Amino acid sequence: METVAPLKEIIDVIKDSGGDAFKLCYQCGLCDTVCPWNRVRAFSMRKIIREATFGLTEIEIEEMWRCTTCGNCPRQCPRGVEIIEAGVSLRRIATEYGVFPAPVSPIRGVSASLLGKGNPLSEDREKRADWTEGLSVETFSEGMEILYFPGCYLCYDPRLKKVARATANILNKAGVDFGILGPKENCCGESIRKTGDEELFKRLARENIKTFIDNGVSKILVSSPHCYHTFQNEYPEFRVNFKVVHISQYLFELINEGRLELTGEYGKIVTYHDPCYLGRHNGIYDEPREVLKMIPGLELNEMADSLEESLCCGGGGGRIWMETVKGERFSDLRIEQAVGVGAEVLVTSCPYCITHFEESRLSLDDSEATEIKDITEILQQVI
Ligand code: SF4
Ligand code: SF4
Repeated sequence: METVAPLKEIIDVIKDSGGDAFKLCYQCGLCDTVCPWNRVRAFSMRKIIREATFGLTEIEIEEMWRCTTCGNCPRQCPRGVEIIEAGVSLRRIATEYGVFPAPVSPIRGVSASLLGKGNPLSEDREKRADWTEGLSVETFSEGMEILYFPGCYLCYDPRLKKVARATANILNKAGVDFGILGPKENCCGESIRKTGDEELFKRLARENIKTFIDNGVSKILVSSPHCYHTFQNEYPEFRVNFKVVHISQYLFELINEGRLELTGEYGKIVTYHDPCYLGRHNGIYDEPREVLKMIPGLELNEMADSLEESLCCGGGGGRIWMETVKGERFSDLRIEQAVGVGAEVLVTSCPYCITHFEESRLSLDDSEATEIKDITEILQQVI
């Protein structure tokens, strides 16, 4: 396996850039006991930290990009090590040295697409609003109630465009005065940052911030927990503070304000999967569940590994762009858990989770028996 060559230099950079996080670690290994990788194959963040700290051996490249930044292990660490930041800092340095996880890394193509087209999918910038075809969706203008920022996957991916369309239908039904930026919208940059490409993240973020300011945006509605996380917690690094709301929170608000009435029935057994960047990273557990519980006829069964212990789908930290071999996909385990609690529908609210669950669904014996839905797709059926 390949190794990071200039390890000594990398260690020096880490130390110079405040590598105290590494020194705090006393190698207890608690992080590894909760890491989802260890349900499917051996992986040790503890070992990576040790190697980065002492330079005893060389770090295996594939291992450096394995962490999905799910957020489960920092909760367990008795020494308060910023484990995710530590791992991302290694990737950042490796990226600066032109080191990537595989000989032909998909990240290079993703970076080129983000740079040239503002999305990771090599899609045309001009087609960013094509998902609105046939719907009443306006371009955002100053004074509107809210900017709807669907994010790259909901703008282009055929499966996820249905989520953007469901969202627009709900907003229209509730009489929300909203608009989109269309081709002026860029990728939020959250996931490319976690792969270590800090420069590209900053570029995308600065462009988005300029567009928001130029267009008089103050409140942003997002569908992706990754957009939510970066707008809420990372964009303030640029000294801006937009009001950010995730769709699951906004639905809860609209129903409680009487702007959305639930008139239909949804007579199915569902289970809810907490996306890592909505739940663990941002503490949003209640609103999506409350919305689901308000839907007439719906029965909500909880899975094991829920709430703050939610099992990662495998898509964070840039892993959405990397191949995970069969037998090592966390989403396969998750969908088995959903079937295990009798769920006919696995519902969540994240484009990466939906993408992975749709793939895993196909590996079930009876793949037609289990549906994967975004929370908006259920709600639009009952309003
Ligand atoms: S953040 Fe999640 S995937 Fe990364 S090392 Fe910790 S538990 Fe494992
Ligand atoms: S839990 Fe914290 S202290 Fe223990 S090995 Fe992991 S990073 Fe180090």
